[in-house]
Amino acid sequence: MADIEKSSIRVDTVPGASARVHNFIRHIIDADLKTGKYAPRRWSGEPGPAAEQRVGAGDTAKIRTRFPPEPNGYLHFGHAKSICLNFGLAQDYAGVCHLRFDDTNPEKEEQEYVDSIIEAVHWLGFDWKENQYFASGYFQWMYDFAEKLIEAGHAYVDSQTAEEMRASRGTLTEAGRDSPFRSRTPTENLALFRAMKAGEFPDGTHILRAKVDMSSGNINLRDPAIYRIRHATHHATGDAWCIYPMYTYAHPIEDALENITHSICTLEFEDQRPFYDWLLARLAELGCVNTPLPQQIEFARLNLSYVVLSKRKLIQLVEEKHVDGWDDPRLPTLVGARRRGFTAEGFRRFNEMNGVTKSDSWIDISILEECQREHLNETAPRRIAVLDPVRLVIDNYSENQEEECLAPNHPQKPEWGKRPLPFSKELWIEREDFMEVPSKGYFRLFPGNMVRLRYGFVVKCIGCDKDAAGTITTVHCEYMADSKSGTPGSDNYKVKGNIHWVSAQHAYAGEVRLYDRLFAVEEPGGGGRDFIADLNPDSKRVITAQLESALKHAAAEDRFQFERHGYFVADRIDSKGGTPVFNRTVTLKDSRAKGK
Ligand code: ATP
Ligand code: MG
Repeated sequence: MADIEKSSIRVDTVPGASARVHNFIRHIIDADLKTGKYAPRRWSGEPGPAAEQRVGAGDTAKIRTRFPPEPNGYLHFGHAKSICLNFGLAQDYAGVCHLRFDDTNPEKEEQEYVDSIIEAVHWLGFDWKENQYFASGYFQWMYDFAEKLIEAGHAYVDSQTAEEMRASRGTLTEAGRDSPFRSRTPTENLALFRAMKAGEFPDGTHILRAKVDMSSGNINLRDPAIYRIRHATHHATGDAWCIYPMYTYAHPIEDALENITHSICTLEFEDQRPFYDWLLARLAELGCVNTPLPQQIEFARLNLSYVVLSKRKLIQLVEEKHVDGWDDPRLPTLVGARRRGFTAEGFRRFNEMNGVTKSDSWIDISILEECQREHLNETAPRRIAVLDPVRLVIDNYSENQEEECLAPNHPQKPEWGKRPLPFSKELWIEREDFMEVPSKGYFRLFPGNMVRLRYGFVVKCIGCDKDAAGTITTVHCEYMADSKSGTPGSDNYKVKGNIHWVSAQHAYAGEVRLYDRLFAVEEPGGGGRDFIADLNPDSKRVITAQLESALKHAAAEDRFQFERHGYFVADRIDSKGGTPVFNRTVTLKDSRAKGK
């Protein structure tokens, strides 16, 4: 079962693109393919500026996208949207999608994050083959290009303090003022920039700025900083550098060096697009990068109700131990979702359904849950689990008697067959399936009433035993020997209740974790509250259930529907000892939905 979503989708295959929902990004790509803007270029498999590029036997992708995570955290549901979008487009348009680690920032990046990102993207079903890159691998090019920009008069070293620079930047309504260092000559700038690189200055004393336009209406074009001094050790380049490129400078270059055609990012980068275009146009003029140039396209990020997706907040939840690590099944991380039992296919359906737009909106988490439920309904075999067991004794069934009932593995898939459910004198049923004094409309067990034990016999309740505290300890029934499911005449009994059960001597007691939403409110931290105050105190409940014996052999990540209870997965970490531990993925229905 678990193999279904593990099978990876090859990025270079072309399934029917026309079957896909159209969106504005597809329109752009369609138009570009029509005009031949990005005629397939041969690709040696090695990024680099035009002069360095070896044209080899590489592939000829029609489009080239990239997913560029910063390896400073675990991927979350929002990243899944970007992954499905970028890899999905490449897949549909006979293109290629690169996995690029945007590791230009020397602090905070760790191998642990790199590994988890690789695992998560693979898990979602995508493959980038040899196209895995690190932005830090381009540091030398970025530096060389900066020298070229300086020589051409497109960049200068500014030596104002951070405060002076802020003050002269202007506002939305007021133009900025030129720095007194803006008129330095290329020769002066080059000497200073080289001295910055040589480690001659402390952090913050000089900065390299692009020379664009201090009076631009777009603040991002008012001579943005492109290189800063930072005496820090980088996870990949060590102490080789003490100056590092700014994101706004590095990202367009990374795209151009990798021959990316469509650089898709979230809306907050919209105002930076003019600089993206300005920079690449200058570098193309200087012969540093290939044309046609990549184009940046922005889409609205995923916002989900009942969830926080900010890296800072996720880190806080983990560090303050509000959850059990990054892969806690309640966290909206992809490692967490996987342990929770969510499927990659469920994520892909969710993203396909939501599409991509240009305007920010909130999606209700129940839609993601419904996509998961839908896929699990199709793929998860049915099993029986009694989560809150109470003993039921069939008084007229003999002590040493035992027989087999048959339960279908999937109600709509007869080809999945049936499995034996042993029936005996003592069974476990759900505590809530018995009431000594029934409430109105209660059709299950109460003294004098008959129900069907699903896939088994019709039984009539004759009473119960209680302990000193008044808690029901045993329910007593008599069974109708001629009522066994599937035998002739078995449906002569008209009963309204149909309850599940397991045989006490065949079932086994096992750990089950009932997960619920991590936050109790739609918008955690909304209205100025501390988001921690919005945690749902009942988001995890660990119980001991009575489980059908077939479940004992479940392998890690096997998924099931426990009838009447929801979808469950054998925890991929804690089931390793041979005894599966089950996590509830989702309930059978959205109990919160209106009208249900
Ligand atoms: P931060 O802003 O905390 O650095 P980030 O979410 O931007 O985090 P990155 O690692 O830079 O993290 O993200 C990688 C890619 O995932 C980016 O292209 C980004 O646009 C995309 N992405 C991140 N969050 C979302 C989201 N909620 N919806 C859609 N795409 C997202
Ligand atoms: Mg980011």
